[in-house]
Amino acid sequence: ARWNRPPPPPAPPCPVVPSTEDYGGDHDFRLSFREAGTAKSVTWTFSLALHKLFCRLAKPCPVQVWVGAPPPPGALLRAVAVYKRSEHAAEVVRRCPHHERCGGGADGLAPPQHLIRVEGNPQARYHDNETTKRHSVTVPYEPPEVGSPCSTVLYSFMCNSSCMGGMNRRPILTILTLEGPKGQVLGRRCFEVRVCACPGRDRRIEEENQSRRGGAGGGAKRALPPPVEAPESSKKRVLSPDNEEFSLVVRGRHRYEMLKKINDALEAYEGGAAPERPVKGRRSRGAELVPRRGKKLLVKGEGPDSD
Ligand SMILES: [Zn+2]
Repeated sequence: ARWNRPPPPPAPPCPVVPSTEDYGGDHDFRLSFREAGTAKSVTWTFSLALHKLFCRLAKPCPVQVWVGAPPPPGALLRAVAVYKRSEHAAEVVRRCPHHERCGGGADGLAPPQHLIRVEGNPQARYHDNETTKRHSVTVPYEPPEVGSPCSTVLYSFMCNSSCMGGMNRRPILTILTLEGPKGQVLGRRCFEVRVCACPGRDRRIEEENQSRRGGAGGGAKRALPPPVEAPESSKKRVLSPDNEEFSLVVRGRHRYEMLKKINDALEAYEGGAAPERPVKGRRSRGAELVPRRGKKLLVKGEGPDSD
């Protein structure tokens, strides 16, 4: 009898604008990328400083997937792209008309209008959400192979960020969610993506621009927690009542170098070190200028490859 059927399970929420909040969840879901450097020949490279993937059109980018505790059987990894700026966030990210005419994936799975593809996985499934119309691609979560700490999924992006009639120079974020068998979100990670002809060069330029701006408030960082606006603002990190630490955002390299020298000298003095000890490039206990979580605010001497 139809009227005796139990109600269907509640559908997983599908907001018009998907969340871009990082969430490790109970399974401690995380992503990483190998350091690929910024040579001219690289087809993809990830900037930790910008939290941004730079890649060439249609080149596979290996995304490393980590979990602290295995998700339940039937778990999926879903990738979806959204526009980063709020004024475009409601618009579905799709390929430009030109590239859409180039067709879908050679595997016969990827539809021509989808920007994000999974390479080399016959279990990839492409979805057009009925309500939001957003495109996504899922693969079953696979535990790491024996001897490997993480598993890898190859994603490729099928338009340039500059494509007219498509992304049209609007920055995008890729959201990867770990989902349970009923579609419930178990974890979420998010990073910016730029698809361009010279990923290495563009990463270098954007990192230099960010570093010139003082490491905070760079144009590429708007999706992260809001930049500290006032130069005198400080981020407080309480260690113990007598040993509080602060990070200071400084505008301008000259002023930064000056303040750093003063701070290093004070540290050397208070630490009982010889005053003539060189201060340049030194980071002493208690004078750490990098907030433990979040962006690098002050340290300029570190190259992007030092992570
Ligand atoms: Zn295109």
